Amino acid sequence: MIRFDIILVILLFLRILDLKLPRIYSIINFVAHKISLKRRVNFILEKKIKYYTKECTKWTTLLVFGILIIIFAILTKYKPVYIVTLSGVEIGIVNNKHEIEDAIESYVQNVTEDIAYINIEEMPEFKLKFVSREEQTSEEEVLIAVRDTAIITYRRYAITLEGVQKSVVYSLDEAKSVVEEIKEEFDGDLDLDIGVVEIFDTNHVDVENVETAVAKVNDDSLIQEKLKEKEATVNGIVLHLPLNEEAKTTITSRFGSRNGGYHSGLDIATTIGTPIYAAAAGTVTYAGWQGGYGNLVIISHGNGVETYYAHCTSIYVSTGETVETGELISSVGSTGNSTGPHLHLEVRVNGVAQNPQNYLYK
Ligand SMILES: [Zn+2]
Repeated sequence: MIRFDIILVILLFLRILDLKLPRIYSIINFVAHKISLKRRVNFILEKKIKYYTKECTKWTTLLVFGILIIIFAILTKYKPVYIVTLSGVEIGIVNNKHEIEDAIESYVQNVTEDIAYINIEEMPEFKLKFVSREEQTSEEEVLIAVRDTAIITYRRYAITLEGVQKSVVYSLDEAKSVVEEIKEEFDGDLDLDIGVVEIFDTNHVDVENVETAVAKVNDDSLIQEKLKEKEATVNGIVLHLPLNEEAKTTITSRFGSRNGGYHSGLDIATTIGTPIYAAAAGTVTYAGWQGGYGNLVIISHGNGVETYYAHCTSIYVSTGETVETGELISSVGSTGNSTGPHLHLEVRVNGVAQNPQNYLYK
């Protein structure tokens, strides 16, 4: 009985094996098959990559050659240039952009002595373009056009008198020469405030040469005034006309010999009451009646210089009073030894009468 059972179990087991075994085999087979397929796929893939890489290289090479051929073809017929524009206006074409930029730069930098600085407000613009090989470039025209837009600030030297510009010369050396020459001529005699100032102007300032500048400054009214003043000086005292310039006057008798006699002053006839002014600053040393002089004012100006004003109607100053140049001192009359209203003016140096006309400064 027991044996029977055992046989039955074995048979059952065998049955299971019988059923399962082919299945296991088939799984093993399947896996084996998959592995083999993957290998094959990998192999194919590797081959494909190699193939496409090769293809790619081939095409790239072809493309590069193609481009090179096209470029070569273009270059035989066309050339690359720069179209130059200034404020949107075409001014020419150039081969080399940097050459032009350098030329502009050196133009701005290498300024001459008379130019303070050059300012180019707008730089040209460059645009690359292919043009026919026959096309001529125009570097020179481009540079001229750019330079034409430059704002040039010139440096000049002005000669000034009392701070006022009188003449303009080209260089500092010239300005110095002008000052030297003028100083040589007048300095020491004339107290001149002459100077040189640097001036800047964007307009082309007209300049004078040294000779013209010297002449111009010498002729300047300021110097002429000073010269006149200097000529009117007696012992360092400048004597001004003691009457208003507007007053109607007639010289009726000059200094020197007169009718076999001697006239110690200058007779200036004018309306009675015409104001008389001090010819220079000083101290009144006499104010009153004195014989033939009639009403007389004497002013001492220092350095031994005195002025006499005779035949006055009225006297407005008194002895010991100090007066300024042009101060009202008396008025014209006909007092004393006189035949009509006039000012008898005397200029004395250390008591000796001088010709007033040598000194009077209008
Ligand atoms: Zn007189």
